[in-house]
Amino acid sequence: MEENNELKKLRETLLDDRKNGYDRTPPVRDDAMEDYCRDYKKFLSCAKTERESVRELVKQAEAAGFKPFVRGMELKTGDKVYRNNRGKSLLLAHIGKKPLDQGTQISAAHIDSPRLDLKPNPLYQDTELAYFKTHYYGGIRKYQWSTIPLELHGVVALKDGNLVEVSVGEDDDDPRLVITDLLPHLGGEQNKKPLGEAFSGESMNLLLGSRPLTGDEKPDRVKLAVMKILYEKYGITESDLTSAELEAVPAWNACDVGLDRSMIGAYGHDDRVCAYAAFRALLDLDETPAKTSVCILADKEEIGSDGVTGMQSAAFDTFMEDLCDTQSVPVRACYEQSFCLSADVTAAFDPDFAEVYEKRNAAFLNHGIGLCKYTGARGKAGSSDASAEIVAYVRELFDQDGVLWQIAELGKVDAGGGGTVAMYMANRNINTLDAGVPVLSMHSPFETVSKLDCYETYRGMKAVYRAEN
Ligand code: MN
Ligand code: MN
Repeated sequence: MEENNELKKLRETLLDDRKNGYDRTPPVRDDAMEDYCRDYKKFLSCAKTERESVRELVKQAEAAGFKPFVRGMELKTGDKVYRNNRGKSLLLAHIGKKPLDQGTQISAAHIDSPRLDLKPNPLYQDTELAYFKTHYYGGIRKYQWSTIPLELHGVVALKDGNLVEVSVGEDDDDPRLVITDLLPHLGGEQNKKPLGEAFSGESMNLLLGSRPLTGDEKPDRVKLAVMKILYEKYGITESDLTSAELEAVPAWNACDVGLDRSMIGAYGHDDRVCAYAAFRALLDLDETPAKTSVCILADKEEIGSDGVTGMQSAAFDTFMEDLCDTQSVPVRACYEQSFCLSADVTAAFDPDFAEVYEKRNAAFLNHGIGLCKYTGARGKAGSSDASAEIVAYVRELFDQDGVLWQIAELGKVDAGGGGTVAMYMANRNINTLDAGVPVLSMHSPFETVSKLDCYETYRGMKAVYRAEN
């Protein structure tokens, strides 16, 4: 008996015990988790694009006392400011007690998600049916996007400077759009093709209409009828569609998944699940943080983080420099003392596709926020590969606050790979580590996450902002 206790103690002290979060969370967290997830689902349902995310979060930030940050403005400890970068990315800061040369605590997430964009000349008619041509944005599995109801969200920029907001499918009463697929009866040849080739990008056309303008004899009379509807509703003509950003996204709202309601299914968890956690944690800080907390919600991550609203944009450096100018601190001095949690989703282990995961280093649903020391492909290519010291720093931060976390890789070595904004932060001389919510069916029109992981990610973000060092 004595010896058994010895062994038990030895085991507990020496071995890592990976437990399901529900075996570790005090049940008292349940209500807080449900409340948080309810708010998150509400956010998802009104923020289906990066523009809508910015609009909704600016509204929430202003209600929480955040003010637009204008260059040259004086800032003092406790001030809360934000900058809206072209309506597509958002930067926020809560000025801490310590000066900026002692660094900032940053969270960086992205609010763009894979989707179908309209081409610049989208509208056409074929065989008495009208369509929009699309060009997919981000990494999608094309077959997943046909025969599901789709909505159209975005803007049309007019030459006079006006911006027309377009939203088709948001109201219950609205029509939906769809990409059609072959019937199985005639799918014999298509069935023989590899999955990646069976469905071509040029066949991803949105069905818009079938009813011709009667009395018109011209061959494009269905197209004309559709354009007439768009003109009557939005005041736009076909040529206005060339300066538009219209995005087709799945036409459903976030909902609970599972008979036990332990999960959330939605379009766009990647990466609004981390973006919302990073944002909400900043809003919910109950006291002024030691170091300045910064939250950046970037656009364009799914296509490489380039462009003025992507994480590689100087918009971030400009924001940080403007902050540093209020304290006459060189931004490079601030960066080298700063820490960034690159908050992006990771792949959750899926028992139905176990062969692509390495179980000892996979992220599991309900095991908490997933840290990733590195992402990338092959020999860690395209990854900033955080240092051991930084992983230790975050372990300690999370353990201090009882945040449930796990550490994982995306999948098996050489099975594939992926990247995040981490390297763009690290390249700025900011210590950076990846961490985020594990997702099932990532990049699909209906992704699944666990409520426990959502909530622990939010708690993890708070721990980062609250850090003293
Ligand atoms: Mn992502
Ligand atoms: Mn992604």
